[in-house]
Amino acid sequence: MSDPMNVLAPEHRRLRIGDAWRDAASGATFAIEDPATGKTIAEVADADVVDGLAALEVASKAMAGWAATPPRKRSELLTATYRALTERSEEVARLITLEMGKPLAEARGEVAYGAEFFRWFAEEAVRVEGRYSSAPAGGYRILTVPKPVGPCVFVTPWNFPLAMGARKIAPALAAGCTTITKPAAQTPLTMLFLARIMEEVGVPPGVVNVVTTKRAGEVVSALLADSRTRKLSFTGSTEVGRVLLRQAADNVLRTSMELGGNAALIVCADADLDVALDGAMVAKMRNIGESCIAANRIYVEESVREEFTARFAARMGALSVGHGLDEGVDVGALIDEASVTKLDELVADAVDRGARVLVGGERPDGPGHFYPPTVLVDVPEDARMLEAEIFGPVAPILSFTSDDEVMAKANDTEYGLVGYIFTRDLQRALRFTEGLDTGMIGINRGLISDPSAPFGGVKQSGIGKEGSHEGILEYLDLTYAAIDLP
Ligand code: NAP
Repeated sequence: MSDPMNVLAPEHRRLRIGDAWRDAASGATFAIEDPATGKTIAEVADADVVDGLAALEVASKAMAGWAATPPRKRSELLTATYRALTERSEEVARLITLEMGKPLAEARGEVAYGAEFFRWFAEEAVRVEGRYSSAPAGGYRILTVPKPVGPCVFVTPWNFPLAMGARKIAPALAAGCTTITKPAAQTPLTMLFLARIMEEVGVPPGVVNVVTTKRAGEVVSALLADSRTRKLSFTGSTEVGRVLLRQAADNVLRTSMELGGNAALIVCADADLDVALDGAMVAKMRNIGESCIAANRIYVEESVREEFTARFAARMGALSVGHGLDEGVDVGALIDEASVTKLDELVADAVDRGARVLVGGERPDGPGHFYPPTVLVDVPEDARMLEAEIFGPVAPILSFTSDDEVMAKANDTEYGLVGYIFTRDLQRALRFTEGLDTGMIGINRGLISDPSAPFGGVKQSGIGKEGSHEGILEYLDLTYAAIDLP
């Protein structure tokens, strides 16, 4: 197979600002590595504040023209992006795997998922509507006019290099906003490739800008401090989200925050155990466990705990670990050495406090950032992994005997992104749906992400929704006009 890097020519490994692909003003670059080998695969431009503000300048200048572009035309450009991504799915998937480490099958899934946001929001672009009504007391009419928010700044994480950007860029463009995306420094190549594809399909210059940098703090705070920016959408850790919310407050920006999670996955004794096992495997192992919606704590009702644990451990132990580009690999490399060390420490901490390792738990030697699928039981309440985001292929299994008890434990976290419940009892499922303090719930399903559904958390997991009809509302302001009509 050819080198996945061939799809992104060297001239496109630079900043995408307006109609140009350019070096950073300072000429600086930084290296991107393949996490499965630790080898450098590319150098990209390292923007500083001057470059960030240059992107904002073109995004603001392009705003009026893009907002005035007929919705049908904007919609067609989004559809063209969807088609191009779909036609070039294999190339995009290989690039994602190379820079991020996930197995190729997962990367293909991400391309399908990411592309679908463009199709979905192509359909939403032509359905933006206001309202006209009579004032209840009579004498005048009320008209509401949706308008694009303005130039948007997007900051995205490394775990879904395409989809996390697509979830923002597609609704923003549908609404008539221009964008500047700062992808994660570890995985900027896929976002540059997306910008190239969007240039090829004819998205006008200035509408999609991409600024790669190793100096996220400086560049993003300069963008947020500039009054031309009107919206921040961030996906990443709660810790960084809090910092950015504070910065966004100075200019009272619209914000969408997709932050961390600590999902409980609850298996009731009346569940179909085959369904629960499939769901638990997906919820834990999708994206190598490096997902905000990964099952962080698996609670199994005491009477089925033994059977569930044995079968789950067998499935985890059978997964193959290796380079994501190799055929048949289930579990690729983690993003970096810090992630491996973090997992190692979380497992050691749980074991020190009395947990038992059933599968995995040993960090392998050799190049690349690998950690094996790991299952722990007898994990005590005070183990750090029950409150931290594990963000890797490590599964603590716990037990419960009453619904009230497990609901209280599931909710005992600052996070509120997602919960999973496996039961055949409809009333029980609905009680959990009402009782769990989360923005999303999987009922007898481990996979919930869908561009046509509103994705987002409550509590410290975030603000706002991505995907669905709600997703475009995040990019629209509403002007209300009072019209005198006696
Ligand atoms: P992160 O460390 O918070 O980084 C996310 C992005 O923020 C990166 O682009 C990063 O740039 C940038 N950043 C870091 N510090 C910054 C600062 N001071 N100012 C401005 N930007 C800054 O998160 P991550 O490790 O990439 O991603 C994992 C986290 O994302 C997890 O917590 C996960 O739960 C969360 N996540 C949430 C969702 C959701 O939808 N709720 C989806 C996916 C992931 P650099 O790369 O240069 O550091």
